[in-house]
Amino acid sequence: MFELNVTHDPKRRSWLASANAPDTPFPIQNLPLGTFSRDGVSHVGVAIGEQVFDLTASQYFNLFTGDALSALQALSSGSLNALMAMPESFSSALRKQLSEHLVVGSGSQTMISALSSSLLLERAALKMSVPALIGDYTDFLTSEYHTERHGRFKGLKEPLPAAFKSLPIAYHSRASSIRVSDTPVVRPRGQYKDASGAIKFGPAPMMDFELELAAFVGQSNALSKPIALKDTSAHLFGYCLLNDWSAKSVQWWEQVLGPFLGKSFMSSISAWVVTSEALRPFRSKPQAKAAKDPALLPYLNDPLDREFGGLDIEVEAFIRSEQQRASQLAAQRITRSHLKHLYWTFGQMLAHHSSNGCNMNPGDLIGSGTISGPTDESRACITEITEAGKKPLKLSSGESRTALEDGDEITLSAWAKKEGHVSIGFGQCVGTILSAQGGAELDV
Ligand code: MN
Repeated sequence: MFELNVTHDPKRRSWLASANAPDTPFPIQNLPLGTFSRDGVSHVGVAIGEQVFDLTASQYFNLFTGDALSALQALSSGSLNALMAMPESFSSALRKQLSEHLVVGSGSQTMISALSSSLLLERAALKMSVPALIGDYTDFLTSEYHTERHGRFKGLKEPLPAAFKSLPIAYHSRASSIRVSDTPVVRPRGQYKDASGAIKFGPAPMMDFELELAAFVGQSNALSKPIALKDTSAHLFGYCLLNDWSAKSVQWWEQVLGPFLGKSFMSSISAWVVTSEALRPFRSKPQAKAAKDPALLPYLNDPLDREFGGLDIEVEAFIRSEQQRASQLAAQRITRSHLKHLYWTFGQMLAHHSSNGCNMNPGDLIGSGTISGPTDESRACITEITEAGKKPLKLSSGESRTALEDGDEITLSAWAKKEGHVSIGFGQCVGTILSAQGGAELDV
C-alpha cells in the first residue's frame, strides 16, 4: 500500500532541466495534478519544474496506453473528479508512464520536444482553477496546541474540549466559496461584539489566516457503509494547502453549533494536488500519544496507521503588507510548523467522518485544522502568534499587527522532506485581503 516504485527513485532526473533544480517543488518524483484554462477550455496538467505537461492536449498523440489511457480519458472533462473516483492503480499507471516520458534517456524526448508548444506550457503563465468539483468540505481541528491556546484565549476553564483526544473534532464547512490560490479575499461584513460589549454589524475585525493541509477524497463509500481505518489510504487521493480564512470576531460571537459566517466567506487552496502516491516516501509514525491519553477505540486504531499514518511535511506562512510590498521588502515568515504536531491522522479523520455511515464523494475536501505546534515559532495563525492581540506581531516595515489588515498578503507553503529522498513541494497558496465591499449603509 505504501510501497515505493521506480517513480520515487531519488536518482531519477528529467530531461527538462528546471525539474532538476534543487529548490523546485516539482521534481520528477512529484508530478502533481492541476487544472487550468487554455483557449477557454479547462485542461488538466502535471507540474514539472517550471513547466506544465498538458495531459488534455496529449490525448491526440498516443503517448499513453492501458490503464494510463483510461485515466487520461477520465480527465477529459477538465476536472479531477472522475480520476479520483477510480482505483489508485489508474492514476498510478498514468504517473508511471508520464515519469517514463520525462525521465533522462526517455525514447519520447524527441517527440515531446517537437510538440512542446502543444504539450509543455510555462507554469507561471497559466491561470489555474480549483482542480475538482468539491461537493462537500469538512474542516477538522486536530492540533492540540491550537485548540488549547484558543480555549485559553476565550477564557474557557477546560481549554481542550473533553472529546478532543477521543475523536477528531470537525465542522461541516462551505464548499461553494473555496477558491484557488491568488484569488483576493474580500473582508466580510458580519455581526460581532466589540471591546465595549456593543453588538455591531460591519466589516469584520480580527481577520486571521489558518495554515492547514487538506486531503481530497478519492473513491467514494456507499451511504451507511463506513470506511475502515485500514482502508482509508485507498480513499485519500491527494493533498493541497488550505488557508481557512477566519473572521475571529464574528466566529467567537456566533459560534454555538460551530463556525458559520466567520469562515464561509471564502477559503483558499493551492492549485496542485500532490497525490498520495507521490507522498509515499514521506509516510511516518504519527505523534506519539501520552500515557495518560485515552486509549484509541478500535475503529480509530490500526497498526498500519500507527506506523505510517503521519506525513513528514513542513509548513510555513509568510506575510507581506502593502507597505512591505511598497518598500520592496521580502515576504516575512511568521510561522514554521510540521504535520507531526497533529494529534489525528488523515486516515483517522476519514474513518471517523464515515463511521456513522456518512457517504464521502470523490472531490470532497477534508482540512487538517490549523497546524500549530508547541513552540512560539509554530503558532499557525495570527490569533496564536499575538496571544489574541496581547503581543502585537512586528513587521519588517516597522508596522505591527494584532490581526490582518486590508492589503496584507498571506502565502502558505509546504514541503515533504525525508532523508534519502528528493523533497517535493506543494507550491504556494496566496491570498490578499481586500477591503469590505458594498452594504455599508447597513453597518452600525
Ligand atoms: Mn480551520
